[in-house]
Amino acid sequence: MAATRAATRVLVLNSGSSSVKYQLLDMSDATRLAVGLVERIGEQTSRLKHTCLTTGDLREHSGPIADHDAALKAVAEELSRDGLGLDSPELAAIGHRVVHGGLFFTEPTVIDDEVLNEIERLIPVAPLHNPANLTGIRTAQALRPDLPQVAVFDTAFHTTMPESAARYAIDPKIADRHRIRRYGFHGTSHAYVSRETARLLGKDPSEVNVIVLHLGNGASASAVERGRCVDTSMGLTPLEGLVMGTRSGDLDPAVIFHLARVGGMSMDEIDTLLNKRSGLFGLCGDNDMREIRRRIDEGDEEAALAFDIYIHRLKKYIGAYYAVLGEVDAIAFTAGVGENAAPVREAAIAGLAGLGLAVDPVRNAVRSGAPRLISPGSARVAVAVVPTDEELEIATQTYALVGKND
Ligand code: AMP
Repeated sequence: MAATRAATRVLVLNSGSSSVKYQLLDMSDATRLAVGLVERIGEQTSRLKHTCLTTGDLREHSGPIADHDAALKAVAEELSRDGLGLDSPELAAIGHRVVHGGLFFTEPTVIDDEVLNEIERLIPVAPLHNPANLTGIRTAQALRPDLPQVAVFDTAFHTTMPESAARYAIDPKIADRHRIRRYGFHGTSHAYVSRETARLLGKDPSEVNVIVLHLGNGASASAVERGRCVDTSMGLTPLEGLVMGTRSGDLDPAVIFHLARVGGMSMDEIDTLLNKRSGLFGLCGDNDMREIRRRIDEGDEEAALAFDIYIHRLKKYIGAYYAVLGEVDAIAFTAGVGENAAPVREAAIAGLAGLGLAVDPVRNAVRSGAPRLISPGSARVAVAVVPTDEELEIATQTYALVGKND
């Protein structure tokens, strides 16, 4: 009987302002049972894409989905159709990605009213993300009030950063009053990839120093010393650091004053410019690395310059984190660009032989979903491609916590 089966399933929810991504995993063997996405919530053209991985069934629905409540109910219905409903006794918990956990949340946390209040208190430092994450949690709680819900924070892995890396050089009283410090993001990915890189080297995470380059549409680097994050490129918000798909990354803060005073732009306009219309997109009108490479192959100079600026910044962070760590065992490329774009990996490592870094062109050209080395066998520092899996990491952390509480 189903009721006597162990509760080993975890539903992972990643709620954005107008989307919900989800995966249902069975943690007895870490297999995926279903994956899907609801997009454009609140619009007339909402879309739900659901794949049941046990049957291979793929279903898509278009039409208005008014809010997160309706979105999650639609997801629950799809899961029920596959015999994987949220009412199943096999469901152990729901794990939520929560972007900002501030300094308060250093670990995954079972959600209660106090936790919800703290996530809410962090809205001023994460105005785009935490409200959507909260909506997702509240909606899921309403659907299954009896089920443990766990928050897994994007910032948690970075809470080990020393003050010297986490503080900006501004008056600490002003900084503390407004909770201004470097929090870092993509922490679930940096944690997972740094651990998997150690595994690829046949070592324990506590034995290696790794630079993780998470290069997706958002992008961040981290310096991980013996399993603990000691620096990362994103800061108070995900705007700092590398050149990204649509974000500028680092710039002189005075650019903002200049745009306001001389350019006559409002703060909201500048915010939108730097977060949504900058980076690769701002430089050349495309934020997809595939398109940029295609244009470069056709001799497009604008795309070539955007690529060069992207690579230059990446190299600066590799050098910086090499110095922060002192000794480096591996550099790991991950996320959409890092896992797929061989020319980015080649260009980022080119010329760094003095640091013991090199890429083997044949190994770098291999396309694979598995963690792999792309450095020559003789290299002093391993260069690796390590696919990230944030959902598996959230499910693993959620299941570990719920198991502990049993
Ligand atoms: P993510 O945010 O990790 O999903 O990464 C999305 C980004 O990965 C896209 O915007 C592309 O720039 C990049 N990407 C995905 N697939 C490829 C590919 N085959 N080659 C180069 N870049 C890719």
